[in-house]
Formats: sequence, C-alpha cells, structure tokens
Amino acid sequence: MKISDSIKVIKGIGPKKYLEFSKLNIKKIEDLIYFFPKSYQDRTKIKSLSMCNDQEKTGIIVRIKDFSKDVYIKGRKLTITKVIIEDKGTIGEAIWFNMPYIKNTLKLGKNYYLYGKIKKNYNHIQIETPDYKLLKDLSFTGQGIIPIYRSTSRLKQKEIRKLIDLVLSDVIGQVEEYLPSFLRQKYNLCDINFALKNIHFPKDFYYYKIAKNRLVFDEFFLIQMALKIIKKNNSEKAKGIIFKTHPKVEKFINKLPYQLTNAQRNVINEIMKDFTSGKIMNRLVQGDVGSGKTVIAAIALLIASLNGYQGAMMAPTEILANQHYLTFNQFFEKFNLNICLLTGNINNKKKSNIIKKISEGRIDIIIGTHAIIQEDVSFYKLGLVITDEQHRFGVKQRALLNKKGDNPHVMVMTATPIPRTLSYMLYGDLDISIINELPPGRKKIETHHINSNLEKRLYEFIKKQVNQGRQIYIVCPLVEETSNIEARSVLELKEYLEKNYFNKENIAIIHGKLKKSDKDAIMRQFKEGLIDILISTTIIEVGVNVPNASIMVIQNAERFGLSQLHQLRGRVGRGPYQSYCFLISDNYNDVTKKRMKTMTSTDNGFIIAEKDLIIRGPGEFLGVRQHGLPELKIGNIINDIEIISKAKKACEEVIELKEYELIEEYIKKKFEKKLNEVSLN
Ligand code: ADP
Ligand code: MG
Repeated sequence: MKISDSIKVIKGIGPKKYLEFSKLNIKKIEDLIYFFPKSYQDRTKIKSLSMCNDQEKTGIIVRIKDFSKDVYIKGRKLTITKVIIEDKGTIGEAIWFNMPYIKNTLKLGKNYYLYGKIKKNYNHIQIETPDYKLLKDLSFTGQGIIPIYRSTSRLKQKEIRKLIDLVLSDVIGQVEEYLPSFLRQKYNLCDINFALKNIHFPKDFYYYKIAKNRLVFDEFFLIQMALKIIKKNNSEKAKGIIFKTHPKVEKFINKLPYQLTNAQRNVINEIMKDFTSGKIMNRLVQGDVGSGKTVIAAIALLIASLNGYQGAMMAPTEILANQHYLTFNQFFEKFNLNICLLTGNINNKKKSNIIKKISEGRIDIIIGTHAIIQEDVSFYKLGLVITDEQHRFGVKQRALLNKKGDNPHVMVMTATPIPRTLSYMLYGDLDISIINELPPGRKKIETHHINSNLEKRLYEFIKKQVNQGRQIYIVCPLVEETSNIEARSVLELKEYLEKNYFNKENIAIIHGKLKKSDKDAIMRQFKEGLIDILISTTIIEVGVNVPNASIMVIQNAERFGLSQLHQLRGRVGRGPYQSYCFLISDNYNDVTKKRMKTMTSTDNGFIIAEKDLIIRGPGEFLGVRQHGLPELKIGNIINDIEIISKAKKACEEVIELKEYELIEEYIKKKFEKKLNEVSLN
C-alpha cells in the first residue's frame, strides 16, 4: 500500500468501518499513521505481587492457583469472577466483572502476565479486570509501551492499535523526508520514518521523546514556514503601489491637538518606508488599548488619498465603525476628502448610492464593518486596506478585504497583545510594529476586585464621580450573544439602580438587540456627556473612546476572559482624570481569585495576554481568530515554547538555502488549501 491510498485498501475495512474511521478524520493511510496516541500505558515494568502498591497500575507475572465460585450481586446485576493467583508465595486474587467466561480461557497452574489496577487492603491484594497473556516461560519482559488512541464506541482500542501496527510495518520508509540531513543534525531531529514508528510503538520512553520532539518540531516548522513562504512571495512577486509623502501630511500632524508620541512617530516612519519601498506593505500594528492607533490609521489613509488612491478601514462593530467615521470627519475637516460609512444597517437605497459612489471613485476613504467585504462592493482604485481590532476577524475576512483591490497595501491593527510564540504562528506572514508607549499624562487605572456586598458603597462612590462631571460604564455579563435575556438583564439592572441608588442621574442602556439608530443615538449622547451612566453588554468592548469616562464596573467579572477584561478596562483612563475599574465577583474559587489578582496587579497587556493564554488555551484565547491556526495534533503552544523558537530559527535559515525550493514544494503540496485561504493576494 501507499500512504496516499484510502484505508479501504486494507483488508477488513469495508464501508461500515470506513465510516467509523472517518469520524476520527481518518480516510487515508497517511491519516492513520498521523493519528497520534493521546496517551501511553507503560507495560515495560513487571513488579512482584508482594511489592505492589494500592491503586497502582502495573504488570505482574502470576500462576493461576485456583478459581473461586462466582459471586452474584442481585441488586446490581453484577457477577464477580474471582481467580486466586500466586507469585513467589504471595497470594492474591484477580477479579473480573460480568465476564464469567474468563474462567474457561484461563488455565489452572499456568503462568500469566496480568496488567491492571492493584487494590491493596492490609495483606489482601487484588488486581482488577486485568488484561492477560499466557506465558510460555518466565523469560517474558513486559509488553512495552502501549499507545492509547482516541476511539469511538464502535472502534475499540485494540482494533485501532492493530491496524496502525499493520500499516506501519508496511509503509514505514515510504514517508518522504523533506528536511535536509544537516538541518536534522543541527537541531537534533530524528528521521521522519523513525519518528512515526516510535510515536506509536516506542521501545521505551527515550525513543518516544526523540520521536515526539521531531513531530512537534515539524508541526511548528511547517506552519511558520508556510507563513514565511507567503511573506516571501508577497514581497517578491507583486509590485507594491508607491505612495509618496506629501507636505499635507506634516500639516495634518502639526494640526493635531496633541503631539504624537515617539512610538507613534516610529510606526508612521515604518509605514512610510513600506509605502515607498515598491513592495506591498503587510504590517501588523500592535499597541495596547489607548496607545493611539486610530490617528496612525488616519495618517496612512491620508497618504493613500493624497496619492490618488482609495483607502478602506474595517472595524468589528458598528459602534466602532461609527466612532471612526466621526473621528475621521473631524480629523479631515479641512482636507477636502470624501469619507463614507458603510455598515449593514444602512437602508438599501442609501447603501446602493454609497456603493455606486465608491465604485466610481467619488469616495476617498471608506469606513465600515463587514459590509465592506460583501460581494456587491467594488472599489475604483483601492490602495490601502486597514483592519481595526484584527483579533476579532478571521483570516478569511482579512483576505477578502485585500482582494478588493489590486495588491493594495495592508495594515492590521490590534490591541490584544499576542504572546510572542503565538504571534510567530499567526502573523509570521506580517511585519510587526509595536506601539510600546502610551500618550503622556495617563494615570494608572485603579483596579479593585470586590464582592457584591460592597455594591452600595460603590454606587455612592459613583454618585460622587458623576457629581464631579465624570461618566460611568457598567457592563453586564454576556448571557448569549444578542439574546433577549441579555437585553433584559441590562434593563433590569437599570430599573434596580434607578429605584435604589440613582434618581437624578441619567442612565441609559445599550445592547445588541437595539436598532442601529438607537445605538448610535445613545453612543452620541454618551460622548456628548448627556448620559451619566451607561449600562451595556460587551458590545462596547473594543475601541470605544470617551475620555470623560472614569469608572468601569464589570458585573460577574469571573465570566470574562482576562484579555476581554483588559479591553473593557481600557475604555476608561483615556483622558486626564484618575480612573477606576471595579470587578464585581462573588466567585471565590482559586481560578477566579488568581485571575482577579492578575487584573488588579498589572495593567500590562502583554502579561495579561500570556496569563490568559495559559489559563484558556490558544483556542479560546484567540476566539474567532483561531481558524487561522491549523489544528495542532501533537504540539502545544504553551509547553513547547522551546521547540517553537527552534523551528522559527530553522525557518530563517532554510529560506537562505538551496534546499529551500524542495521544502517550499513540499509545503505547498501539504498546505495547498490552507495557503490559498491565508494568502493575502
Ligand atoms: P487605541 O490605540 O486604543 O485605538 P485611540 O486611537 O482610540 O486608541 O486613542 C485613544 C485616545 O488617545 C484618544 O482620545 C486619542 O485622541 C488620544 N491620543 C492618541 N494619540 C495621542 C497622543 N500622542 N497624545 C495624546 N493623546 C493621544
Ligand atoms: Mg482603537
């Protein structure tokens, strides 16, 4: 058989079995050999019965001394079969449940290898439902390490194991070794065929480690290499549009009500370098909440339009798109630019009018939500695309936006600091700019974890702040996105607060179920300071900017991820006022306590992100963005950091080598579909 064959070529795999295997995503021989064990049983050791400990799983060698009578427990419909066993004078018993026939297979006086769990009570030793094997002589040295696989109710361990064993002995040696041997030597990696054999049936745990090391390396190497290939192709293949700088850019910067921070300046320089390089820009701008990414986007868009190109910016929520639209209108008041807003909620007539203008080139800057990437939208001359809060989008959406132009420059912005190892995996195809400095004068946000007994005091404190002219956010936990329950919980809280605490203050609610026009109106009023307290769901999580707001209250804080809490907290402390964040949670289990501690002790988004990743794992941490990362079969983003870094280094070396082309070909074959999806062009 060949590794590309369907498993149907194996004797005994009919349509029914095939279906069972396909439930485990196994269709080809190759899938079978890459179906790695989820754990192993150590059957290398054999203990003497007298030395066994309670609750230990072990192998023993015993002689069958006698059979006792089966015990039947009526109430539980249980038949217990007991066999008396002996090992060098120590007597014990082996028991099985509802397997009375076992007595017919075991032979009195013969030696057996048993593997199972020991129960020991004083001098009474039992082994429970052991696997057994008849021994010809006593030279037996154990069964080695047994792989345990994911199975289904119709596919038993033994069957999967047998099949993999069979297949491996047939195809081992056939698997293509794509890593050049000097590279394997340098990074201490075994041959791929050796690795595949020993990940399933290692002779001992040393062999297992060697095998695993190679396969984990492969997984991370291939992902990073695939991204590198995309990046290389992007920069080599297509010519990037050249945007020249323009005196109006400095004019714009000088007219800002503040001075750009050095970090902002640096990022703008990096972008400018890309614009003039003749290559396509693919840049991730990463900066903690409040670091001032919006103005950078504005400058980039200004440059694009001064060069005669359209620029588009996509935001994950309507509130945010709306806010950007307003901000940009202010920014560009004196610049004679046509700016439009395109979101899902605009009525059809207005929308088709906007779409027409975009396609005719009568619009310079397009701000919007997913609506921008719909099929009916086409651009006249798109030169720059920006995605704000990138982590909220899938790779596909990013790619769709890029495809709207003819090799446009690409910039993605995110406030979620991505732990470094993860960012190699996700953004290896991008150049990264980091804004590592907040605008001056920001006060540290005081963060407190309180339980609901203290709410009364909290509300009194809020009253004081409102009297001083500040504004407040109160966030209710997400019940289920856009569910009615969520809307209700927000409303109930409003009524409760009005009845008990705030009668003069102006309270408003905002949640996903409201009409767009209502949401807009409320956000506008909040921005203008007409609303004192805004009770909201997490729809305000990203991007919203109201510098006068000084308190963020988060109800049931234990229900949010750390990065999300950090984002929410980032809604305050955006102006000159001392700001506060109150995390209300009555949940005092260890995990919650730890997480709240993290929040109260640091405001460093990177530290929070790393903790979040460890607590929640990459899947949940990344949320929507996880589609971007191929599923990991054996590697672990948290535990295998060292191998990830090694793989990264190897990638950088390989790209300079003559063997590069071979590896590229291999990866293209392996990731064909994935590469197309991820490809930016
Ligand atoms: P984010 O990076 O979270 O998107 P924003 O772009 O919304 O942050 O900026 C947050 C706030 O900081 C805004 O009110 C903005 O006007 C202000 N800001 C941005 N850059 C500076 C700066 N260099 N100096 C002072 N304030 C700034
Ligand atoms: Mg922002």
